[in-house]
Amino acid sequence: MAHTYDPENIFAKILRGELPNKTVLETAHTLAFHDIYPQAPVHVLVIPKGPYVSYDHFAAEASDAEVLDYTRTISKVCEMLEVGEKGFRLISNAGELGVQEVPHLHVHILSGRPLGRMLN
Ligand code: IMP
Repeated sequence: MAHTYDPENIFAKILRGELPNKTVLETAHTLAFHDIYPQAPVHVLVIPKGPYVSYDHFAAEASDAEVLDYTRTISKVCEMLEVGEKGFRLISNAGELGVQEVPHLHVHILSGRPLGRMLN
């Protein structure tokens, strides 16, 4: 899969402060914010600050510090949102077949309602 990063994507603009966001948590390498069109009572997006298109791109090229910060921030946000007990779903869409709308890596954290079966 091509990993050409488009610096004009919406999340790049959010990271540059050109578009607003409802921040849940910001760390050295990661930003978590509420999805603008929530699909569940809890719907938060977690993005690395670096220019990575998708999870495979990030996992292959990000530094150890970025990877650790990103994964730990996802965990911290789940803790802040108190979704651990009842359950949650993490989704990261990639590319055309994955129906990725914004070409900057993001993990969706969804919770607060029964989410149904995803894979049949
Ligand atoms: P994707 O389909 O996995 O790429 O999901 C992109 C997500 O970004 C969708 O759930 C959108 O609702 C969300 N989104 C798009 N623009 C914004 C924004 O400006 N702020 C927060 N979320 C956004």
